[in-house]
Amino acid sequence: MSAFPLPPGSTIGILGGGQLGRMLCQAASRLGFDTAVLTPRPHAPDARVAAHSIVAPYTDGDALEALAAVSDVITFEFENVPAEALNRLAAMDAVVAPGSRALSETQDRVVEKTFLNRVGCATVAFAPIDSADQIPAALERIGAPALLKTRREGYDGKGQAWVRAPDDAAAAFPAIGGKPAILEARADFVRELSVIAARGRDGQVACYPVGENRHDGGILHLTRAPAPGWQAVQPQAEAFARRVLEGLDYVGVLGVELFAMGDGSLLVNEVAPRVHNSGHWTQDGAACDQFEQHIRAVAGWPLGDPRALFETEMQNLLGDEAEAWETIAAEPGARLHLYGKGEIRPGRKMGHVNRLGRAL
Ligand code: AMP
Repeated sequence: MSAFPLPPGSTIGILGGGQLGRMLCQAASRLGFDTAVLTPRPHAPDARVAAHSIVAPYTDGDALEALAAVSDVITFEFENVPAEALNRLAAMDAVVAPGSRALSETQDRVVEKTFLNRVGCATVAFAPIDSADQIPAALERIGAPALLKTRREGYDGKGQAWVRAPDDAAAAFPAIGGKPAILEARADFVRELSVIAARGRDGQVACYPVGENRHDGGILHLTRAPAPGWQAVQPQAEAFARRVLEGLDYVGVLGVELFAMGDGSLLVNEVAPRVHNSGHWTQDGAACDQFEQHIRAVAGWPLGDPRALFETEMQNLLGDEAEAWETIAAEPGARLHLYGKGEIRPGRKMGHVNRLGRAL
């Protein structure tokens, strides 16, 4: 068993192969840690900057043993890691942070919203849907239009269909793949916000200033942080984040996606039990960025300072937008982050740029 705080020179294991893992590896290395990555994909963005990389399915017993053997603590950068992988690691006495409850309460949208309501976080009204013929009664209760989403594995707006009338039910259910679903009341939000928050091994909580998010085709395009008028919503956002962190007995960083309503209230859309795209601005705009914060938390270090130092706008570089790297690199006040992904595909997250504004 590892003793916390982990000293520099310890190894942080990461399940998942994407850019979030890559930036976790970069932050870990700044604090003197090594990293070990387990990912099913060869040439993964994070495996190329980690000291150890293991290419195997998440549930491969030998691969999990190899990861546990080199790691002092294991975390994940991807919320759809099979629960079986974490259970197997637990059976090997590996220390995993955040724990398996972070996944079991957030992987399924019905379970997640039930959890959120239980801990006192407001959400839209919702109903579980297992077949198309359950939709009309649920629509009657929730009100039209409503959004049908797959319960599991939806991301970036995928696996969603609007239901405007009972007659839409027959088409909407197959449109999302005919899988177990949730029907959600439409949130008539005025803007979308998110709060990135961390909880340490000692229960200490740190919240970043709320950011405002703009999506394009269901994919995050821009985050402005701190959000205009953030002070007015920060207490409610922090209260929600704290209830989620404590309700999950969480160790690490998570993102809470919020709908800001016209009357000033907030609803929680969903929780991402990991570092979050809308927190990338912290790399250049905050005293301690979300990646370092997560490494600090899982390693049992004191949490870093979440204060914003600059007004920052984060723009995702999707698909061929990353081909503008040379122009962006020459822009004053712009900090370019590229993920080392070889193949450009439409909508693929290739990198991001943080543009620094006024010092705070
Ligand atoms: P999600 O995959 O749940 O994060 O949804 C992706 C995007 O769809 C959100 O960022 C919102 O823009 C929109 N959306 C999701 N749920 C709702 C809802 N209940 N009402 C209105 N818009 C929604």
